[in-house]
Amino acid sequence: MSVSPLVGPADGVAGRLVAAEPGRLAVDDLVTGDPGAGWVEPVGMDGATAMVRLATSAVTADAAVTWVLESVLTQVAGAGARRLVLETDDGERQRVLGGGPALKLGVEVIPVPVVAVTNSLGRRSERLVTLVPGQVGIYSCGPTVYSYQHLGNMRPYVFVDTLKRFLAWRGLDVRHVINITDVGHLLADADQGEDKVEEASVREGRSVAEITGYYSEVYWDDLRSLNVGSPDGWPHASAYVPQMINFAQVLEDRGYGYRLDQGLYFDTARLPDYGELAGIDTTTQRETGRVEMVEGKRAKADFALWRTFTDGRDRLMQWSSPWGVGAPGWHLECSVMSISLLGDHFDIHTGGIDHRDLHHVNEIAQSEAYLGDGRRWVRYWLHNEFLNLKGAKMAKSAGAIMRLADLTDLGVHPLAYRYLLLGSQYSSQLEFAEAGALAAHQALRRLVARVAEATNGPGPALGGPLTLTGALEAAAALGSSELTARLLALDAALADDLQTPQALALVSTWFKGLDDLGAAEWRVLVAAVDTLLGLRLADLRPADFVAPLPDSIDPAWVQDRLSEREAARAARDFEQADRMRQELADAGIRVEDTPDGTHWYTARPGS
Ligand SMILES: [Zn+2]
Repeated sequence: MSVSPLVGPADGVAGRLVAAEPGRLAVDDLVTGDPGAGWVEPVGMDGATAMVRLATSAVTADAAVTWVLESVLTQVAGAGARRLVLETDDGERQRVLGGGPALKLGVEVIPVPVVAVTNSLGRRSERLVTLVPGQVGIYSCGPTVYSYQHLGNMRPYVFVDTLKRFLAWRGLDVRHVINITDVGHLLADADQGEDKVEEASVREGRSVAEITGYYSEVYWDDLRSLNVGSPDGWPHASAYVPQMINFAQVLEDRGYGYRLDQGLYFDTARLPDYGELAGIDTTTQRETGRVEMVEGKRAKADFALWRTFTDGRDRLMQWSSPWGVGAPGWHLECSVMSISLLGDHFDIHTGGIDHRDLHHVNEIAQSEAYLGDGRRWVRYWLHNEFLNLKGAKMAKSAGAIMRLADLTDLGVHPLAYRYLLLGSQYSSQLEFAEAGALAAHQALRRLVARVAEATNGPGPALGGPLTLTGALEAAAALGSSELTARLLALDAALADDLQTPQALALVSTWFKGLDDLGAAEWRVLVAAVDTLLGLRLADLRPADFVAPLPDSIDPAWVQDRLSEREAARAARDFEQADRMRQELADAGIRVEDTPDGTHWYTARPGS
């Protein structure tokens, strides 16, 4: 038989799907084809379940589409598959499956939706198609380690962790980098002024290494508590200064940089599409949140690639460069570290929405100028929205911040904060309130209790992260069409731009009744939920959600105060009720009235 045309979605590259040995699917050596004719991307096989991504939008004849599917089916059947998970978009699904060739070959076709993301570049939903079949490269702007990260600062990392979990579930090999900014990020995100890390070093009377080491460790601890997986690289900006100087030199040599006393500046007028990500044109570009005057700047939007120190003061962090002693510009750092570790082009760049209109605009400008290959530097830009506190963005500068440690001091389990974040889709703003965190704590506790009950029964244990094909293979082995349907529903919710609220709603609905699946099926489902949402439902126990009283407090004393408060409330003696609440608060016990009744919490041990 003839092979299907064209594997490989990457720019201009296409290959062929070939019949591999049983149990294995592979991409043949890539051959050049017509990328306009659609593509087929084999993902892999788990047991007898194969997965293939397919795009036929550019194929005009329905007969040709049927022929492609027949070809794919023949090949996966030849490799031993009995099920084919087929990722196609809604529009092409009817065309692809209309002919019904699958039945002839005895292969069950399971259609799944494409992975759709909202690309800030163009502000539209797009199918995720990676540069290299089967692989995805992701870069996330990391923290500036001059201070504690607050709850709002943690949202980008829970978001990207959930995205990575889903892409790995879909069979992609994920490579991820988060940088650590330990130099170059100036107060107020400006181009001139004090370095945040250096300022903290002076303020706290500790060395730069002590400051960045300490705040990095606290940040990493918080990530672990939130079950955020480590990236493949944690580059420190200060370790890439020679590469940054080289990068800036290339830009200057190509005429994209001009020298001022204060350093080397990027000439934004050289790029006609500067500011596209922000949805603005150069003439209206403002200097977001900054008040600074740099003599000689040609345009307001121009920004520092290298900052030369002109006041003769010795800095803790300074390097020699062709533009004098100074330090790299903050925007430059991310371009250099991402290109160094992920290659000239990669698939996804993530960050908080506050980075979209300035930091990321400038990253794109200098990177595309540096590469000069006429291609888009990064194809997908995904931004998470803010976490708000009383209607405003939670921000260190506003003084109103709360850390993960503050939440755990209230007795809230750290994964309850992850649960709370998943309750909103990443691109919606989220209003934070302590009461919401306490409610999330209770919701997660109830879920953990139900999971323990549901999974306690006969059947094989299940460990490790699952893939979609692996989970469907397990469901087929159990002969469970209900489990298959739930796995596909969970998958579809997350494929739609990571609709985590919908996924959580499904999970809580399923765990309301426990009779409809057996323990072995529940275990597969819980493993899938844990793989995708990272809530550790299988490991946690209800006891993890009860903070024990310190030895110094007698439980009977607490109970008396609570009863007295209840009685006072019933008698509408609110003064007395408040006194009881205050006595408990003074002892480190918080009382929370919820629709479920009154709950109380103490600080968790060790906090
Ligand atoms: Zn960045």
